[in-house]
Amino acid sequence: MTDAKTMIELITTGAATDPAIGAPGRDALSYDGFRSLASGVIEQLNALGIGRGDRVAIVLPNGPEMASAFVTVACAATTAPLNPDYKAEEFEFYLDDLKAKALLVEEGSASPAIAVAEKLGIAIIELAVPEGAAAGAFVLKGEPIGQASKSGAAGAEDTALILHTSGTTSRPKIVPLSHRNVTASARNIARSLALTQNDKCLNIMPLFHIHGLIAAVLSSLRAGSSVTCTPGFNALKFFSWLDEVKPSWYTAVPTMHQAILARGARNQETVAKAKLRFIRSSSASLPPQVMKSLEEMWGCPVIEAYGMTEASHQMAANPLPPAKRIAGSVGIASGPDVAIMSEDGRLLGPGETGEIVIRGENVTKGYENNPKANAEAFTDGWFRTGDQGIMTAEGYFTITGRLKEIINRGGEKISPREVDEILMNHPSVEQAVTFALPHEKLGEDVAAAVVLKDGQSASEAELREFAAKSLAAFKVPRSITLLDEIPKGATGKLQRIGLAEKLGLA
Ligand code: ATP
Ligand code: MG
Repeated sequence: MTDAKTMIELITTGAATDPAIGAPGRDALSYDGFRSLASGVIEQLNALGIGRGDRVAIVLPNGPEMASAFVTVACAATTAPLNPDYKAEEFEFYLDDLKAKALLVEEGSASPAIAVAEKLGIAIIELAVPEGAAAGAFVLKGEPIGQASKSGAAGAEDTALILHTSGTTSRPKIVPLSHRNVTASARNIARSLALTQNDKCLNIMPLFHIHGLIAAVLSSLRAGSSVTCTPGFNALKFFSWLDEVKPSWYTAVPTMHQAILARGARNQETVAKAKLRFIRSSSASLPPQVMKSLEEMWGCPVIEAYGMTEASHQMAANPLPPAKRIAGSVGIASGPDVAIMSEDGRLLGPGETGEIVIRGENVTKGYENNPKANAEAFTDGWFRTGDQGIMTAEGYFTITGRLKEIINRGGEKISPREVDEILMNHPSVEQAVTFALPHEKLGEDVAAAVVLKDGQSASEAELREFAAKSLAAFKVPRSITLLDEIPKGATGKLQRIGLAEKLGLA
């Protein structure tokens, strides 16, 4: 592999006739086809007046065209993929916030983003799929809006991608990522997973978040392997895609893994025939029990990785066998420097708890228009992740929680994750989420929401008693609410902050 610094260089690894982008039930686009698509898109965008530094918001359904549009539009301009399910008000906020120059939608799209873009004076470009085209191939249609200020292929320091953080702990922040950032991350992931031209990824992740864009799409292309793009996760269709596509790996978030696991027994034939080399989990913590069950079901290693938008996704990952992977750990640094820092900015050693900090080619230069957040985020060139963690002498990191979510019970700091894990050891518990409950005297007290396994029962008192066997009294949740489902944030992540209010407890 050459050390790609730009997206256009990144797609040079794949062999001419090897598949680059696929979709269930459709012919794949070859690497040669993909490379000529990229040169065509640069020309077409430049002719429309869009060039380097201009921002193109992408509102497309999940699938091969979304993947190829992301890569090829980034070769010419800056991409800003947005969730196609947003409502008009959300599109108005994002399109305005991003200062988009153009909006890319499917030909004939009924997206509310179109009317919003017209109102804001943003050019509309349509993506049209020619009859009988291979998966991911398209042409662009639009009215020229003038001269592109800078034409040709984007450079290493140009911004390739702009995304907002998920907004789990605060208002979403704008993260610009350069070609250097995203291609370095794709390289790191391809290396840590030992991807080769023979690999085949099945993408079930949404392509408006960093996880799917980089771990599934860019790392596959970087390795000259292929990515088959589905319309998005669907636990019912997942097994038939697996049968048809025969991927060597897929990457998902823990909630998807759990949904797949729940249907495994009904799809035993597919499971037995699957030829997975490994599966990958990232974006939220994978409970060790889920990891164990997944490995038993698939008969392949589960690689848990640690990623965030600001790092162009991955910063650490468990290694493949024969090296050791540790359940509950996010593994070892996978390219960038990763360390633990004290509140006052000192680097800490193994066994000491502090903030996980990172430094490397994949890390953003800083949030856009947010000097306050940047001042808080960078210390001596290190980016503070906001995650609390601990490292072993062998360099394995474990996330112990998010700093903003740590419960402060009258000065006693409690990691909600530790309490979750204890509750999840109870045989009837499917999921547990611990959170802060406002308390008059203590400031905060500990509470938990619990979902029981199908057909199981357990009372609040029984669960508290169970937790008290393994936890010091001050960590035992004062209240445990039994629920059918835990409310989640917009991106499907558990939001501990504000959960007490959502459940009517505060
Ligand atoms: P915001 O920064 O706006 O509050 P967010 O941090 O959820 O939102 P993302 O960039 O999508 O936005 O998520 C990154 C975060 O996800 C990490 O900082 C970490 O807290 C969490 N995370 C990622 N991978 C893992 C993992 N394997 N285990 C535990 N947590 C993880
Ligand atoms: Mg974050």
